[in-house]
Amino acid sequence: MSATVAIIGSGLVGSAIAYTLMLKNVCTSIALIDIDENKSQGEVWDLSDSLLQSKIAHLKVGTFADTKQADIIIIAAGIRQSLGQTRIALLDTNKKIIEQIMKEITPLKKNACIIMVTNPVDILTYLALKLSGLPSQQVFGSGAILEGMRLRNFISHKLEINPESIQVYVLGEHGPSQFPAWSISSIAGIPITQFPGLSTKDFADLSEKTERHVYEIIKSKGSTYYGVASCVSMMCENIIFNRNQIIPLSCYLEEYKTCLTIPVMLGQNGIGKTYIDQLSKPEKELLDYSAKSIINSSTQS
Ligand code: NAD
Repeated sequence: MSATVAIIGSGLVGSAIAYTLMLKNVCTSIALIDIDENKSQGEVWDLSDSLLQSKIAHLKVGTFADTKQADIIIIAAGIRQSLGQTRIALLDTNKKIIEQIMKEITPLKKNACIIMVTNPVDILTYLALKLSGLPSQQVFGSGAILEGMRLRNFISHKLEINPESIQVYVLGEHGPSQFPAWSISSIAGIPITQFPGLSTKDFADLSEKTERHVYEIIKSKGSTYYGVASCVSMMCENIIFNRNQIIPLSCYLEEYKTCLTIPVMLGQNGIGKTYIDQLSKPEKELLDYSAKSIINSSTQS
């Protein structure tokens, strides 16, 4: 099966995504596109040194024209948070960048999927959807999938249980109003709220630690990219291999008129079924609140 991926933004996130896709043999062709072509060239040369570890057929410096043939377009272009800065603070600058990119890349292949990574990811996923001309099932963002992975790791360390046995979902905004949906989370099939070794205080602490963790990483090393790269690679695997995994990602919900993270089935046509009716009433209210927060932030810019 051949699958072509175009990554827009050859910065830390874009190049980490390329590296992950290569080593996991997710696709056959990758084009790295950036307004700074020299940067893309440097990354392609550096990445090429590990081609022997990959079955990928083509890796190249791309132009926006390459997005026209791409099955998946990943957008990781734009400024990132610096220490003490919120994701929303990036909106004005990154909105202009996404508008410019969408002008360059549309129209896309009818069955292409766009994965938005640039922050603030919920608002920019919605912007890309509006400008893409594609159905909402094919335009989505990494959302809070990364926070779900982090939460899973924290629970794994606390209970000394392999994270593969743990299913948790962080939903809503990729930002301060996000929340772990404990009612649909489990460990080895046991509802997580009944699992031995976790107190009410632990749930609150784990949730707070998950939201704060990005700032700890930024404080230590300036930016984050490996985690999101592995999440995006998993999203691509689901599309390319029609895996139909149920994963949390940021997608458009007509009910809210915005994009936010909910559990969805992801396969070759993009988003299939979505699962929000299964949330508890308080969690549904948290989702409503998250949607309002995202809409408020987007209209304030
Ligand atoms: P970076 O500065 O390393 O790279 C950004 C790249 O975008 C640069 O190479 C720049 O030249 C390029 N660029 C800017 N404008 C462009 C345009 N019009 N067309 C093409 N390329 C353009 O930044 P980074 O660390 O790679 O972060 C990129 C984005 O990803 C940021 O917005 C960051 O907040 C976001 N991010 C999201 C998550 C998530 O979970 N969603 C996680 C980490 C980072």
